[in-house]
Amino acid sequence: MGLLVLSHDDVERLLPMGECIELMAEALADLARGRMWLPLRFVVHPPDEASLLGLMPAHRSEPAPSYGLKAVCIFPGNPARGLDAHQGGVLLFDGETGQLRALLDGSAVTAIRTAAVSAVATRALARPDARELAILGAGVQARSHLEAMAELGRFERARVWSRTRDAVDALIAESKAPFPVEAADSAEQAVRDADVVVTATSAREPIVSRDWLAPGTHVNAVGSSISSTRELDSETMAAAALFADARESMVNESGDYLMAGLGPEHIRAELGEVLVGSGEGRRSDEELTVFKSLGLAVEDLAAAEYVYARAQSEGVGASVPF
Ligand code: NDP
Repeated sequence: MGLLVLSHDDVERLLPMGECIELMAEALADLARGRMWLPLRFVVHPPDEASLLGLMPAHRSEPAPSYGLKAVCIFPGNPARGLDAHQGGVLLFDGETGQLRALLDGSAVTAIRTAAVSAVATRALARPDARELAILGAGVQARSHLEAMAELGRFERARVWSRTRDAVDALIAESKAPFPVEAADSAEQAVRDADVVVTATSAREPIVSRDWLAPGTHVNAVGSSISSTRELDSETMAAAALFADARESMVNESGDYLMAGLGPEHIRAELGEVLVGSGEGRRSDEELTVFKSLGLAVEDLAAAEYVYARAQSEGVGASVPF
């Protein structure tokens, strides 16, 4: 059997957002049930170097075993070159023999699965009557999040803010959302009165202030993936019912959590625990909820398994001898 190579276009075609949302719900539930396992990711960040390489391995034991490894380079200067800041690939290994089965474009997997996970969090944690969406950022994740939130079929309006107005206008021009998407003049204007807020920026310091968030808001904090940067201020983190994709990731990798000086007892549950009923979700319509997304290798593995299976049945991708 050869190695199946799946390009950016292949992944986008075989991993539609609506299907990825259900896939991510199942993957996070499988993590909570102990059917999937992952260690902390390993980050290669050379001194005085702006770029980094992240290695994200994961294993599934049931229903069929598999291993996955995403090797992702993050080059902050890439958007100025017209390239995705996230480059790399997801490797899928046979869980019985360890043979390498597939290599998938990592940019596409990351863009789609991250937004799909935020949609799962929104479905589980936002108030049922949430209709107003705010997105901070206008890059790759902001785009995929608009698509994922539109899939939920509940929003009536979105406001988008980013530092560069042209980027916001371009995002709005490309939007296929079935509701109006408007540019906001400031992060505050975008966030005030929003029921659901997505932060998807490369900000290093907080871009959201607790005072701007109405009671009952749900926040998907997506942007900061390392311990030295954050998007939410300490007051927001302290006031919120806090949900993790993985507790171990939160306490080791989240600048939003670490810089707020919180302890692990502040984390109410992992999202997967809420999904399987072993963790408590939102307690009232007034509660502020924050889902801190750091991104998990089990999400990449589940996406790779699904895309590989579909590619095989639909004859997509380039099979190379290996
Ligand atoms: P892009 O480079 O495509 O977009 C980054 C966005 O952040 C741009 O809109 C940029 O706008 C904005 N931005 C940059 N610096 C600042 C700043 N100091 N203050 C406010 N806004 C800023 O990146 P992606 O969309 O791919 O990723 C966005 C973030 O999400 C990154 O931090 C990334 O690491 C993280 N991420 C998290 C994942 C997860 O699983 N949780 C997965 C993938 C990414 P402008 O230039 O106009 O300021």
